[in-house]
Amino acid sequence: MDYRKLAEKLLPGEYPPLAFYEEKYPPRDLPKGAQVTRLAPSPTGFIHLGNLFVAIANERVAHLSGGIMYLRIEDTDLKRKVDGAVEAVKNALKYFDIRFDEGAEIEGAKNEYAPYYQRERAEMYRAFAKDLIARGLAYPCFCTEESLSALREKQTAEKKITGYYGEYAACRNLTEEQIDEKLKAGLPFVIRLKSQGNPERKIAFRDRIKGDITVTENDQDVVILKSDGIPTYHFAHAIDDHFMRTTLVIRGEEWLASLPIHLELFQALGFPLPAYGHNCSLMKQDGETRRKLSKRKDPELSLEFYRQEGYYSRAVKVYMLTLLNSNFEEWYLKNPESPLQSFKFTVEKMGKSGALFDLDKLNDISKNELAKLSAEEMLAFLKGWAEEFGTEEQKGYLKEEEYLLKVLNLCMGTAGKKRRKDFTTAKQAMEQIAYFFRKGARQDKYRTEKQTRNAILKAFADSYRYSDDAQTWFGKLKEIAASLGFAAEMKDYKQNPEGYKGSVSDVAEVLRIAVTGRANTPDLWTILQILGEKETRARIAQAQEES
Ligand code: GLU
Repeated sequence: MDYRKLAEKLLPGEYPPLAFYEEKYPPRDLPKGAQVTRLAPSPTGFIHLGNLFVAIANERVAHLSGGIMYLRIEDTDLKRKVDGAVEAVKNALKYFDIRFDEGAEIEGAKNEYAPYYQRERAEMYRAFAKDLIARGLAYPCFCTEESLSALREKQTAEKKITGYYGEYAACRNLTEEQIDEKLKAGLPFVIRLKSQGNPERKIAFRDRIKGDITVTENDQDVVILKSDGIPTYHFAHAIDDHFMRTTLVIRGEEWLASLPIHLELFQALGFPLPAYGHNCSLMKQDGETRRKLSKRKDPELSLEFYRQEGYYSRAVKVYMLTLLNSNFEEWYLKNPESPLQSFKFTVEKMGKSGALFDLDKLNDISKNELAKLSAEEMLAFLKGWAEEFGTEEQKGYLKEEEYLLKVLNLCMGTAGKKRRKDFTTAKQAMEQIAYFFRKGARQDKYRTEKQTRNAILKAFADSYRYSDDAQTWFGKLKEIAASLGFAAEMKDYKQNPEGYKGSVSDVAEVLRIAVTGRANTPDLWTILQILGEKETRARIAQAQEES
């Protein structure tokens, strides 16, 4: 068959000579060892932890080597495309400080390898597909969805590997006449790779993360151009990574299974292969088993979750780095204040198998990270979150800056000293401090019975002076305790618990719940100082009424 003629029939018209692209997108002028990496999300509107996981690795490797990290949008699948998705990707990654040097919608970048949206590169993919057809390495396939699913069923029933290959590749050996006939009948077609591989043969491959592995040669005649002339991921990524001069592809390990296809495509296209590193998946402990994080079951898979909940981005990054690089944790223990960029991230230290993602661990890290902030920094962080995600009421808290700073100083403790670690996220912190702004709904139940409770509240209201210092105030609490049958000193209570209704701490708890709604708070005397006498008395009075 005359393959050149066939190529012209299938993809008619003038295409630039392939050398044109080599010239248009020349190798990058970068120092030796500089890596060019990328993030290549599909604009599905769902950007997830797996994306962040590889984004951090790619970004670190590029920038630590003096290279380039770019953003490419893989929008070849229109069915999955969602409006505003690129903006969402950019916002999500910006939150985690992922800096792109060039790419889709990166302002101020030179973008010499543009366009960065795959749909805008359609002509180039077709030019290369046409060349493969002309060289007898690709062919048209007219099989319908129905015949392909029937094939799959047959293969499954016969316990054969499913797919379009070898004897099952019905269109692989169509004659020129048969093709002409189908074209004349206007049948839609896709372009498939005519695989030259042999599944009996193994290929040794060095994965930058997994190390030395062996893969089986590809023999699947995969689709390279769909019937609308738009390429598949396999084909587009090979052309793009070559012409965007990517040197290292760190991507999720779900792509490892397709690696043989990619090896064959690079070879057929005559492109040198970039280095690949397949990053382990994020797993979750679910009872006795470990499973992959799931979109349906685990809200924490979505990056939107972290912004909405108000996770402190450095905390998430610290946790991601802990999971990504085995020596990060030790480095961070020694350098807790250092910018994360100063950690010498290496691909070699990336985990080879599934990393366990644990929200509790992240929450612990978040508490530590937030405890490092000054009250002013915390205020700025809360503000940023509340402006986007807070309720109207929460936005209101932020208007009283001076008051809020007092609250934060109390709730966080003095900078430089041992800090309290009450805050996990902005959302949780806002809920936690709500009682300073409103008579919060009672969260915790009283443990002391009603009559005694009322007696405590009354005695307190009678003796309370706003000007009392902490010691005097506590002295009065002890007196109240003693007068109502509670031990004024803890040690007395411990020695003889039967002899008392409780201790002075139970008395304080009644007061604490009455005023704040909570059984656990920072120092109660300071809370009352911040609330002021009027508010304190009003809350006690209300608690007595409700009692
Ligand atoms: N578009 C692919 C994805 O979102 C990119 C994979 C890659 O990084 O090459 O999974």
